[in-house]
Amino acid sequence: MNDRICEWAGCGRQAGRGWDVDGRSYCGPHYFPGLEQAFLAEYAKWDGREPTDKFKNLFSRYAERLYPAGGMPEKLSQGRIEARAAAWKKIPSGLEFIIERHLTAYRWSGPVKTVNQEWRFGLQTKDLLLVRQKDVTPRKLRVFATLARPATPASSSV
Ligand SMILES: [Zn+2]
Repeated sequence: MNDRICEWAGCGRQAGRGWDVDGRSYCGPHYFPGLEQAFLAEYAKWDGREPTDKFKNLFSRYAERLYPAGGMPEKLSQGRIEARAAAWKKIPSGLEFIIERHLTAYRWSGPVKTVNQEWRFGLQTKDLLLVRQKDVTPRKLRVFATLARPATPASSSV
């Protein structure tokens, strides 16, 4: 039984499971505003160097909630941003980061392409913008693509 109370000022409703933000509990309607407030406070304190894990967690959760039903652009996800985003940069309008992506050209086979995507997040616009994408083609990726090819001949199926 969850008897915690939402910590949003003046709310008093029961807090929900999984709606904790930085140690505070919120009800459903106050989860997003609580998250936004916590992220903006971290952003204000951020010196522009490698952000803390807490910052990455709050930002990725915040950005995820701005896109309903998991519809972040280019199939970005909260987990990917939190774990794999690098080269974070604080800019006047918000922030930028780079993330390595492995794009598959076809659904189950075909070449896998590695790219570095540079993303910009605007605090005012509240959206993620793909600024540029650069190809990365390390040789080991070709090996990976070869190994990933199914061993069964295509003719044996159906
Ligand atoms: Zn509340």
